Amino acid sequence: MDLKSIENIVSLCKRRGFIFQSSEIYGGLGSTWDYGPYGVEMKQKIKDFWWHDVVTSRENVVGMDAAILMHPKTWEASGHVSNFHDPLVDCKNCKARYRADHVDLNKPCERCGKKDWTEPRQFNLMFKTAIGPVEDSGEITYLRPETAQGIFVNFMNVQGTSRQKLPFGIAQLGKAFRNEITTGNFLFRTREFEQMELEFFIHPGENEKWLDYWCEERLNWFKKLGINPEKLRLRPHDKDELAHYSTACFDVEYEFPFGWSELEGIADRGTFDLDQHNEYSGKKQQYFDPQTNERIIPAVVESSAGVDRAFLTCLVDAYCEEEVRDEKRIVLKLDPKIAPVTCAVFPLVKKDGLPEIAQKIVEDIRTKYSAYFDQGGSIGRRYRRQDEAGTPYGVTVDHQTTEDGTVTLRDRDTMEQVRISTDNILSELQSRIQ
Ligand code: ATP
Repeated sequence: MDLKSIENIVSLCKRRGFIFQSSEIYGGLGSTWDYGPYGVEMKQKIKDFWWHDVVTSRENVVGMDAAILMHPKTWEASGHVSNFHDPLVDCKNCKARYRADHVDLNKPCERCGKKDWTEPRQFNLMFKTAIGPVEDSGEITYLRPETAQGIFVNFMNVQGTSRQKLPFGIAQLGKAFRNEITTGNFLFRTREFEQMELEFFIHPGENEKWLDYWCEERLNWFKKLGINPEKLRLRPHDKDELAHYSTACFDVEYEFPFGWSELEGIADRGTFDLDQHNEYSGKKQQYFDPQTNERIIPAVVESSAGVDRAFLTCLVDAYCEEEVRDEKRIVLKLDPKIAPVTCAVFPLVKKDGLPEIAQKIVEDIRTKYSAYFDQGGSIGRRYRRQDEAGTPYGVTVDHQTTEDGTVTLRDRDTMEQVRISTDNILSELQSRIQ
């Protein structure tokens, strides 16, 4: 896949209702995107799969959902007010703006070809806002740049009420905002995005063991999403890449057409965050260890993934252009568990009672999976629309159905069709989706 394919994916996303440019009728807003009907279904399925894998299926992880607006002191304690900066440079000639660590300042500007840079200066990535009706005197706070701090400030509440014992995790899924200097590559880097974060609290000293554990778990989660394992890797951070709070960090990376890039960070945060909140709030952030009868500040291993990046990865990995009987077929080979529609149902013609039978089948499928009824256009066109939408199965109702109660079931990837009884559709889908 080459870089151009990203453009093809952007246009497929628009054509099939996955993603639209935000506020498009007003000319769009840079690097913000809206999820359409298919996009929101797929995104929800990715989030549900994460929530199930990280929270519901585990005895020792609980979830929570903190407010996006938090007390401004949170961001002083976390280090974001003083440290959450990117270095920024401008080309004085054409006014193009870059992250200083993303360009070679010994070379000319790639947009205008002149070499006339401003001095790099630090730019805080947090979006500021004011609480209260009077803008100037309102209290300044920020749109959260990560969900993690909502977990840390609730550590005592959650541990006290859930009565979890170390090691245990608190997970959260929600929006985060960063005023990124350079954006681009579609959903990869945007100013508003969703995060799936887990803070796993442990006895200090067990950091390495749990960092290894979560690296493996999280890499496997991406594989279970159906992403090609050969394009996934874990990369340890070099010392100079580590964030201010971290002593060791691994990124899960995917090989995009624009190069290997981060999908998730798994970091040893030590006791940094709870120490800071302990100090800034003046409220003890401690865990009572019933085995040693001691109060300690737990250490933390964090897993922090972007929903939108996972979504983009699934699309890029699934996108295929094939030649079928001298025609180009575009198909999204999405894993059935995240495909927006699991099964489409087509009456071959719009008469002779076939649409009614098809509608009944759609209702049956909907008791377990998402289904879609389509009677518009030739059957070939209907298959192609669903191939582009990533729908893994298609059921066609034809005249034989009225005689013997059978339908054809088509597989998106092999395009093979088998005849099965209408009564067996659900069980057949179930056995194929496992
Ligand atoms: P980068 O180096 O790409 O800016 P980061 O190391 O600052 O990312 P983290 O702070 O570790 O990112 O955030 C955790 C995850 O949140 C990232 O792995 C990514 O999936 C997601 N994420 C962070 N920033 C963005 C963004 N601007 N747009 C979309 N997703 C993002």
